[in-house]
Amino acid sequence: MHELRLHNTLSGKTEAFVPQRTGEVKMYTCGPTVYDYAHIGNFRTFVFQDILRRYLKQRGLNLTHVMNLTDVDDRIIANAVAAKMGIREYTEKFAQAFFADCKALSVEAPEHWIRATDHVPEMVELIERLQKKALTYDSEGSIYYRIAKFPEYGKLSKIDLTGIQAGARVDNDRYEKESARDFALWKAPKPGEHFWETEIGKGRPGWHIECSAMAMKYLGETLDIHTGGIDLAFPHHENEIAQSEGATGKPFARYWLHAEHLLVEGEKMSKSLGNFFTMRDLYGKGYKPSALRYALASVPYRRQLNFTFDGLQQASSSVERVRNFANRLQQGKFPAGSATGMKERAARALDDFDAGLADDLNTAVALAATFDFVREANIAMDKGDFGQEDVAAAEQFLHAFDEIFAVVKDNDGEKLREMGFAVAHGEIDDAQVEARVAERQAARQQRDFAKSDEIRKELAERGIVIEDSKDGSVRWKRK
Ligand code: AMP
Ligand code: ZN
Repeated sequence: MHELRLHNTLSGKTEAFVPQRTGEVKMYTCGPTVYDYAHIGNFRTFVFQDILRRYLKQRGLNLTHVMNLTDVDDRIIANAVAAKMGIREYTEKFAQAFFADCKALSVEAPEHWIRATDHVPEMVELIERLQKKALTYDSEGSIYYRIAKFPEYGKLSKIDLTGIQAGARVDNDRYEKESARDFALWKAPKPGEHFWETEIGKGRPGWHIECSAMAMKYLGETLDIHTGGIDLAFPHHENEIAQSEGATGKPFARYWLHAEHLLVEGEKMSKSLGNFFTMRDLYGKGYKPSALRYALASVPYRRQLNFTFDGLQQASSSVERVRNFANRLQQGKFPAGSATGMKERAARALDDFDAGLADDLNTAVALAATFDFVREANIAMDKGDFGQEDVAAAEQFLHAFDEIFAVVKDNDGEKLREMGFAVAHGEIDDAQVEARVAERQAARQQRDFAKSDEIRKELAERGIVIEDSKDGSVRWKRK
């Protein structure tokens, strides 16, 4: 295993990753704000943190990972009021949609999935700690954090504080870059808004306090890793640091990892540009979850990802290529024994793959290692230079690949059906294909070529391609 190095926004450097306790990692990811369906940009970030999660586990680290659902924030409150619904009632649909999207994209569930609305007492308690340290002030029923009293404010995002107006406060959770202001920890309710009755008064938590309180409850006062999209570095993460470190006097998170944004065809995603896509939009256009996951995972997280439909198509072909290779390993007939150097070649692929990921999760390098190996192994198989005993080494590589990329299993149809998307007419599952292929083999053995051709044609119509190899074995794949 190569030394794991991660880029830490806090230090601005790529550093060796050393957890606080050997073998254990405490990680927090800012989850979605469930006021609408998540878009593919959001999932760029969620797929990135999934790759990180999976890789930490692959390295044998014992991971405790928390992700929250932000189910209280300005937009949710406004939408819930407009829809004349309670917060939970309004957000439930989008929370469920988010879980379904994660499942379709094989984004693993963290050890703790938590909701802000279940942790209001913890938030109130943290605000009280900040009050005792005189880091807050009250104004018209709301409570603000006085950032002038936290001299390290700005250390994560390196924001320039020279223009900061002391005591200028903002009520909204998200505000323009370059305008550091005192932010609301607790907000007095406006007429018609939902509120909690608590020791610090009536109201609701600000967005930033949610993450500080929940992260520390499940992971302790100092986390190993905190992740999110780059737009969260300021003000959200800066404010999380001010709240947590202001209260505890200890470092809040040791490594801060931020994913760069996804652009669509080179532009920022926006509804007015007509380039705004949710996962469901793409599945509705016939794209597969595996292709989307691959497209999102293939660009290293600190590079902007330019999402294009060409790119998605290429991702789909890449997924097919690995799946075909996996099928060939499973279904092919190879000469007995082992070909010279093949096991060593597989071991080298594994080493190159790990080297790529260990280098700040360079997925592009890991994928290059994968496709070099697949190409060379395929050529060796064509030439008869790949032995039965080499299968295990190649499968071991594919297993490691799939622990991270999670696209080998051909279950797109199943996933789409589960999400309520109609799948291609006549689609059949693997077991049914196997049964028809076996029938065709039997027909061929009885020299009933009319029947065997008929089965081939029927399967072709259902998107299944059959390949008869010279050694007499049969492989099949989906088009
Ligand atoms: P939100 O639901 O708005 O709180 O965002 C959820 C996550 O998606 C956050 O980590 C954001 O930083 C991230 N995010 C939002 N837009 C993009 C984008 N275009 N590309 C990548 N990540 C994004
Ligand atoms: Zn957060």
